[in-house]
Amino acid sequence: MTTADALLRAVLADPDADTPRLVYADWCDDHGQPDRAALVRHQCRHPDEARPADTLTPAERGFGAVPGAAPADLIVRRGFVDAVSCAVDDWVGPDCPACSNRDGPDCPLCRNTGREPRCGVWAAARHPVRAVTLAGSAPMPHGRVWFWCLDERPTYPRHPSSLPQELYESLTGPQIDDDLITMLFTIAKWYPTEQTAVEDVSAAAVRWARRTAAGDPPLRKRGEFIGLVHPNSGGGGG
Ligand SMILES: [Zn+2]
Repeated sequence: MTTADALLRAVLADPDADTPRLVYADWCDDHGQPDRAALVRHQCRHPDEARPADTLTPAERGFGAVPGAAPADLIVRRGFVDAVSCAVDDWVGPDCPACSNRDGPDCPLCRNTGREPRCGVWAAARHPVRAVTLAGSAPMPHGRVWFWCLDERPTYPRHPSSLPQELYESLTGPQIDDDLITMLFTIAKWYPTEQTAVEDVSAAAVRWARRTAAGDPPLRKRGEFIGLVHPNSGGGGG
């Protein structure tokens, strides 16, 4: 691991602390990146300043093109990307082109996540991202709750409330117990408000990306049978 990698890991490991960021800024100064160093220091002094990456110079932001996200959709706080807005498919990435045969050997491209790395893994590996807005996705209101559903089979167009398996499994909401919804959307998780649903999918997206960027094995290999059991179909005991 290079010194730069080690300093970056320290930033990622303690996103609330300024010290690792300022140590990183010193390294930037010593390695010909004074604009980057100045931005980190300035924003650490002004923690409320939030700037879209396209308002920074390339030397200030220190990164080039991001797979699956426009610079305007990356919000930089305290010197690093803090919030991202992108489509759900750009966050998790498209199906991996190298392992369409899922019974094959371990895949070096996607590490058996079944996804070609895109914005989520890129961002989580380099920035202490804390919030993700999934553009085009929205929880569905029903009665007194809001829900996200599992995108069991891709449909075209994808329903705004449906999530890929990785993100759905990372949600913390309780599984919904409603015949209508489970008939229409297979399975879903519910929330008392739209805001809690949106916050939980943001947290789920961050968790998934950090885990994947760290090289941890996926919860399940994509395409593996998820074991759908409708809450009212028996087998749940009770
Ligand atoms: Zn693959």
